[in-house]
Amino acid sequence: MTTTMPTRQQIDRAEPLDFPDRRPAKQDLTITISCTIGGFLTEVCFSGQLDQLEAITRRLRDLGASPAGVHQVSPAAAAPTRKAGEKVTPLYNGDGEPMCPVHKRVLKQGKWGMYCSAKGEDETYCNLKFHE
Ligand SMILES: [Zn+2]
Repeated sequence: MTTTMPTRQQIDRAEPLDFPDRRPAKQDLTITISCTIGGFLTEVCFSGQLDQLEAITRRLRDLGASPAGVHQVSPAAAAPTRKAGEKVTPLYNGDGEPMCPVHKRVLKQGKWGMYCSAKGEDETYCNLKFHE
């Protein structure tokens, strides 16, 4: 019966296992920070470690930079879906009364023209203006 166990001599002769004691160097990351400095959207790129990030953002804030937000919002998406001051043509109900085309509410006559008294989900009044 043979054994596959190495003998003591074999162990002693074996090359020492190569345990690299240096950890793999941390890879530098290229980090891009979008911020606004003096009203200008600025992208700050640097190579470094993530744990430097806090110090860098703090430094940027010292420089008067403000975060530009995580998500880049395209101007079209950022624009409100309803434009204040935009005049729309009202709908008319069976009685010939003008109605808000969005809220289907009969318009009221205000000091500055007709208005819709409906409230949106954000608790603000409908800001549509209507052609007389
Ligand atoms: Zn309305």
